[in-house]
Amino acid sequence: MAHRIIIGAGIGGLTTAALLAKAGLDVTVLEAHVYPGGCAGTFFHQGYRFDAGATLAAGFDPGGGMTRLGEMLSIAWPVEPVRAALRVHLPDGSQVTRWSDSAAWQAERLSAFGPAGEPFWRWQERVAERMWGVAHRGAPWPPQTAGEWARLAGVGIQLAAADPARLPGLALDGVRPVAAHLAHAPARLRQYVDGQLLIAAQATSERANALYGAAALDMPRRGVAYVSGGIGRLAETLAEAVRRHGGDVRYRQRVTRVARLPGSGYRVETDKGATAEADTVLFNLPPHDAAALLGDDAPPKLRRARLPADGWGAFMLYIGLEGAGLPADSPLHHQVLVREPLGEGNSVFLSLSRADDPARAPAGRRALTISTHTDLQPWWRLFQGDREAYEARKAEYTERVLDAAQVAIPGLRAAARLTLPGTPVSFQRFTHRSQGWVGGFPQTNLFRAWGPRLGRNLWLVGDSIFPGQSILATALGGARVADTIIREEP
Ligand SMILES: Cc1cc2nc3c(=O)[nH]c(=O)nc-3n(C[C@H](O)[C@H](O)[C@H](O)COP(=O)(O)OP(=O)(O)OC[C@H]3O[C@@H](n4cnc5c(N)ncnc54)[C@H](O)[C@@H]3O)c2cc1C
Repeated sequence: MAHRIIIGAGIGGLTTAALLAKAGLDVTVLEAHVYPGGCAGTFFHQGYRFDAGATLAAGFDPGGGMTRLGEMLSIAWPVEPVRAALRVHLPDGSQVTRWSDSAAWQAERLSAFGPAGEPFWRWQERVAERMWGVAHRGAPWPPQTAGEWARLAGVGIQLAAADPARLPGLALDGVRPVAAHLAHAPARLRQYVDGQLLIAAQATSERANALYGAAALDMPRRGVAYVSGGIGRLAETLAEAVRRHGGDVRYRQRVTRVARLPGSGYRVETDKGATAEADTVLFNLPPHDAAALLGDDAPPKLRRARLPADGWGAFMLYIGLEGAGLPADSPLHHQVLVREPLGEGNSVFLSLSRADDPARAPAGRRALTISTHTDLQPWWRLFQGDREAYEARKAEYTERVLDAAQVAIPGLRAAARLTLPGTPVSFQRFTHRSQGWVGGFPQTNLFRAWGPRLGRNLWLVGDSIFPGQSILATALGGARVADTIIREEP
């Protein structure tokens, strides 16, 4: 029987693996780390389970992407729906809560941004509805074969038939930024949208594509859920599903080389000196990292893949908190916008474990993950050239991020019992993504997304393929790749 190897147990790789195994195909996942999840993993440190990167899980509404994936794989996700998806703290001191419930959110946004903001939100929700419909149907974007062009044309015809009058607007949104819809919006609304887009599309409204941006802004009302035990439980559950359906997941297996065999197939080598042969190889990695593993055997287009100049890294703080003084009714996720330009400690995202989740922290304590977008290069320049300055920068960012985070959790500094910083250097070390580039391609242009077909029996999954970054999006992308492989299986 043909054998498939998937390199990386991120959400994209595990989703693909589980669905292929469920279809009866022979599949092995090789993961460098000792646990699954990559950017959406949870690590254990001094009694806490800290979410390493991703913290907010969506897609668990009825009919949502994660719900449907769970049904396909007979998975009971360890999740519970939440009412308040997140609270945004704007630079003027005001707060806006993203309620999951539509009516509550409409009332909140009207009171926060006034009637002048409504045309924007009506546009956003209308376009988001269409875009999520397209993503759920596994739209083959960008099309790479005649069959995919035909399927995409079918999706286009359905969209046109559903609402012909709006088709020209949708087409225009395919090539313009979200900012085109904010020209007459209040300044606070633009700030709010920029903050949300930076985390959901990796670019603010001036650059984020309108179609992508509208869909990304919808995430908080698409079945946000609390994951008991930490976000990494999602990947752990997927890894269990791979095994239950007859596939294999092997840890501590960093792939160091993928070589084309004469005739057909590939030889995969790991840092443990193991080799395995596969008919098909799937890379759950950024394209340039996949290219590095293939070396001279990389298809020409892949050889030209580069880390994007506008790509982001993350500076993290993992904090063990004394929980007693924390407000009981506060949402678990907060975004604090301090000033523009956003990122580099001027905007931070905070996520707390629930007080009643014993797996996340010692009794009476909470696990807190805080992140801010950061430019990759300064960290690497200092790490490679001046370790003392690198440590000083870490200390400076720690203070900056704590200052911002205190807006959401007053008394945070006093309650912190453990503070662990992470930089792009840590992300490279733990996810093997070169230079710690995370979040996928900034969604400035729909044509930036990679197609998953890299070459003969070579596939790409993860946040570099459509629909991009996030747990939900990488799961949808992985499901689409699995579906294509299963359909094309001789
Ligand atoms: C700070 C931060 C905050 C985020 N917040 C959210 C959020 O709140 N909600 C959300 O939905 N998303 C969020 N995201 C995005 C989300 O985490 C990612 O889009 C998603 O997890 C990426 O999944 P992936 O499939 O691309 O794989 P990755 O997470 O990149 O995992 C790839 C895996 O491959 C392994 N690997 C790499 N190289 C090799 C090799 N050579 N051999 C073997 N194994 C290898 C790695 O160890 C890793 O486990 C966030 C990301 C970051 C960094």
